[in-house]
Amino acid sequence: MPVTLLGAAEIRSLAAELDVTPTKKLGQNFVVDANTVRKIVTSAKVSDADRVVEIGPGLGSLTLAILETGARVTAVEIDHRLAAHLPATAAGHGVPEGRLTVVDADALRVTELPGEPTVLVANLPYNVSVPVLLHFLETFPYLRRGVVMVQAEVAERLAAPPGSKVYGSPSAKAAWYGAWRLAGTVSRQVFWPVPNVDSLLVAFERADEPRGDEALRRRTFELIDAAFGQRRKMLRQALSSVLGGSAAAAAAALEQAGIDPTLRGEQLSIDDFERLAASVH
Ligand code: SAM
Repeated sequence: MPVTLLGAAEIRSLAAELDVTPTKKLGQNFVVDANTVRKIVTSAKVSDADRVVEIGPGLGSLTLAILETGARVTAVEIDHRLAAHLPATAAGHGVPEGRLTVVDADALRVTELPGEPTVLVANLPYNVSVPVLLHFLETFPYLRRGVVMVQAEVAERLAAPPGSKVYGSPSAKAAWYGAWRLAGTVSRQVFWPVPNVDSLLVAFERADEPRGDEALRRRTFELIDAAFGQRRKMLRQALSSVLGGSAAAAAAALEQAGIDPTLRGEQLSIDDFERLAASVH
């Protein structure tokens, strides 16, 4: 029996049956368009050999599109009613036993993923999209690549190169783990309820070689936070509190790492931040 997808009417009646009224707090904007969920899965190049993790499966529209490829899915959902019902939805749409594992939990707190999935595919809850992405990349090294749908501004930041207007702390931190690129647009009209922001797809590919250890990552992220906490200031000022306690000490540390102290954080690549972090300890 082939896997079938959820239609718009079915999604609404399922929500009514489960007594689920979409909430802003949990970023619950469900995709009610089969073409859109297939487009996400296609752009993630999911095949039947893949084990995929989905964050926030909701009523299951994207989940079924991933399962339609023959892939296995681990789905992490915080809303108990939705998590509890997902296996029944999958079974009712032709998904064979054992292909879906549901984890009823807050994605920000999970520390293990059954099946060690290598691909992430998600329509992320917008209020926690960046912390959840960073948490997953940090905690699950077996996660190699993925495509996620996020608020357009967040996608642009994640994919921004140094020097661009929107390059900021999320851009530099995301780049620690690998390469990011914009991967497609999505109309507001495919959601229920229709959100008041635009969405974009963003794809990532983890770098083959991991960067430094946990201590170096923490120091690098601390420098990134300080640099972008005062992004209009020159680095020697913005980093003074974390590099020696004065602008002069910060300037010396920056020069030692080969970085011009009069630059601003938005001009530094993740390689620069990492080099600086490595040189000051
Ligand atoms: N994947 C579904 C779709 O495309 O229709 C739903 C996407 S909806 C934008 C976000 C989903 O993430 C909701 O089901 C929501 O309950 C869930 N969610 C919100 N915060 C979460 C968290 N911290 N951990 C896990 N799931 C979360």
